Amino acid sequence: MCVVCGCGEETLVEQDHDHEHGHAHTHAHGDVDHAHSHNLIEFGAGPAGVAVAGLSEARTIRIERDILSKNNIFAAANRARLCSTGTFALNIVSSPGSGKTSLLVRTITDLKERWPIAVIEGDQQTSRDAERIRATGAQAVQLNTGKGCHLDAHMVGHAIDQLSLAQGGLLFIENVGNLVCPAAFDLGEAHKVVVLSVTEGEDKPLKYPDMFAAADLMLLNKSDLLPHLEFDVAECIAAALRVNPRIQILTVSARTGEGMAALYAWIGAHAPREPCHV
Ligand code: MG
Repeated sequence: MCVVCGCGEETLVEQDHDHEHGHAHTHAHGDVDHAHSHNLIEFGAGPAGVAVAGLSEARTIRIERDILSKNNIFAAANRARLCSTGTFALNIVSSPGSGKTSLLVRTITDLKERWPIAVIEGDQQTSRDAERIRATGAQAVQLNTGKGCHLDAHMVGHAIDQLSLAQGGLLFIENVGNLVCPAAFDLGEAHKVVVLSVTEGEDKPLKYPDMFAAADLMLLNKSDLLPHLEFDVAECIAAALRVNPRIQILTVSARTGEGMAALYAWIGAHAPREPCHV
């Protein structure tokens, strides 16, 4: 469920799960022990559309705060696990169709000799993106959120359970295509990376400021299409910096490889050298 916008159910349909469903038990993500049913993993109250429609604004805000604070507990556990293996996790967020999966396929192909790489794929339905990632040789777990519009830290903890993370590797978490709700949910990543393609509007950072404020890096993707478009790169960069003066911005093309070396240098400069403890 997303009380933030009331756009989905608080349920997760997992694919590629490696044990039987249809039972309830207690288990741990890192240091967080919790119990839930494994038919569908439930996250609190019923469908958001029902819950929000009948609630006062104060109660809706209280539920939203409770959900986000629960999420933050799972996110902290994820962060501790990732730190203990020196795993550098990036949460990749964007609208649908910005080219997130193509960027990851190119990045994995170029970096897989240098880093162990694992991917968590989030989509409402299908395992198509995980299959594209696995074709590169990288590990990938697909999470299907059903009607949900974002990944949360609890789901990601389950996905991490299914990965064997090598010391000092990279973990890319491709979030559900949505520029609104994923901004509010910490997954335990080191950084959010927002992808904006030049086929979208230059003013998207102004229209969806929370996501650009939450991100540390913006990738302006599909630069190979610029000669065919009336997209003002300088205006787009100015809009992003107006929302977040600290955001770093790289113009890239997953198709031609333009700018990808700068992305790899950014990853190299930000990835931890040693396992850490939080
Ligand atoms: Mg994708």
